[in-house]
Amino acid sequence: MKVLKFGGTSVGTPQRMKDVVKLITDGEPKIVVLSAMSGTTNALIEISDYLYKKNPEGANEHINRLERKYKQHVAQLYHTQEYKEKTLAFIKQEFDFLRSFTKGIFTMFEEKIIVGQGEIISTNMVTNYLQEQGYNATLIPALDFMRTDKNSEPDLEYIREKLGELLKANEGYEIYITQGFICRNAYGEIDNLQRGGSDYTASLIGAAIGASEVQIWTDIDGMHNNDPRFVDNTSPVGQLHFEEAAELAYFGAKILHPTCVQPAKYAGIPVKLLNTMDPTAPGTVISNETEFGKIKAVAAKDNITAIKIISSRMLLAYGFLRKVFEIFESYKTSIDMVCTSEVGVSVTIDNTTNLNAILDELKKFGTVEVDSDMCIICVVGDLDWQNVGFETLATDAMRNIPVRMISYGGSNHNISFLVSGSDKKAALQALSDTLFKQ
Ligand code: ADP
Ligand code: ASP
Ligand code: MG
Repeated sequence: MKVLKFGGTSVGTPQRMKDVVKLITDGEPKIVVLSAMSGTTNALIEISDYLYKKNPEGANEHINRLERKYKQHVAQLYHTQEYKEKTLAFIKQEFDFLRSFTKGIFTMFEEKIIVGQGEIISTNMVTNYLQEQGYNATLIPALDFMRTDKNSEPDLEYIREKLGELLKANEGYEIYITQGFICRNAYGEIDNLQRGGSDYTASLIGAAIGASEVQIWTDIDGMHNNDPRFVDNTSPVGQLHFEEAAELAYFGAKILHPTCVQPAKYAGIPVKLLNTMDPTAPGTVISNETEFGKIKAVAAKDNITAIKIISSRMLLAYGFLRKVFEIFESYKTSIDMVCTSEVGVSVTIDNTTNLNAILDELKKFGTVEVDSDMCIICVVGDLDWQNVGFETLATDAMRNIPVRMISYGGSNHNISFLVSGSDKKAALQALSDTLFKQ
């Protein structure tokens, strides 16, 4: 069985939903993971923000505005009175539910419930449409099988068992629709897999059922060799190794959720990135294959903070790095890049929640300097050190950009440069011009 995931833009209008239905009704059995219609999760976050700020009128205004939009969608999507009425009743129930949060206390538990409603609505709308059109489709609620453990990591054993039970209990359908993004935590409370997490849902389901393929359908024809939002003339990459795709996703290629590749990689399931607007485009295949000696793509990760710790005590001392890393560990702050010299170490982090506490501790070991608003530019491909010339090519491309750190050799797939956020666009363009010129 295949798993197909459609993102927010792919289900963003009634017409797009109809296009998705054309793509999934080829007679093959499949699980279809849907995101919320584009803009909805942002709107739900905005509503939550009003509720946090104890402004129920502001929240109600936004809830009513969103409800009006959905009523129009219903009018445009369905052909029969029966399904118009059925779905309108569902929409009313959903928005009454949202309005119920304007009374009473509001905490992060309520927020998690609210931000997940976009996926609940889109999956109901598409399932109803499929059924109206006479297709053999059913909805399996993600909250009945998608779950994280006490470390907030997906509980693959639980997912495998519960999803297996659900599929067995609903045997005989051609299309199983489910929600991306939402899950329950180890205590059974409603939670989510972070923004963009529907990709992760799809690959977790793929791994749980041993799918033959996971397809991520989006609004672009696969992974491009640079970020198309910042660079002109990018082009799609036909094939990526799992490791290359994971590095690109982690370092900012928004087309994939950072952790989406892992479950598919461990289960050895190929992932295809495909374009809903151009379904016959080849897209990108992510698999275990390596294209030897090839630079594939460049990505950028924003909002990075660099911390340099200089200490004469590091000179010829062992245990210094361990002490530094333990401080980050104790504040559950992961480190992305590391560069060391004889007297100091520079690291980068993207989570600054505990930055002040970390800096206080680090100051016990040496002098500390902080650079914020930095950006990691990451060049990805088969960059094994035995293949000569890649590092020179990449560093040469960066010759006019001030570079704060360089990291190479941590894996066979990545050279990273740390630059100021204001130089991001210039750095991405310079790398494209040098690495991918025709
Ligand atoms: P979806 O809503 O389908 O999940 P996303 O907006 O999350 O879609 O991801 C698709 C977007 O990712 C594209 O429209 C594009 O702007 C952006 N993107 C960033 N980097 C890349 C890249 N290297 N290749 C392709 N798309 C990229
Ligand atoms: N709807 C969620 C978001 O906007 C999840 C997703 O689209 O993948 O982040
Ligand atoms: Mg996405």
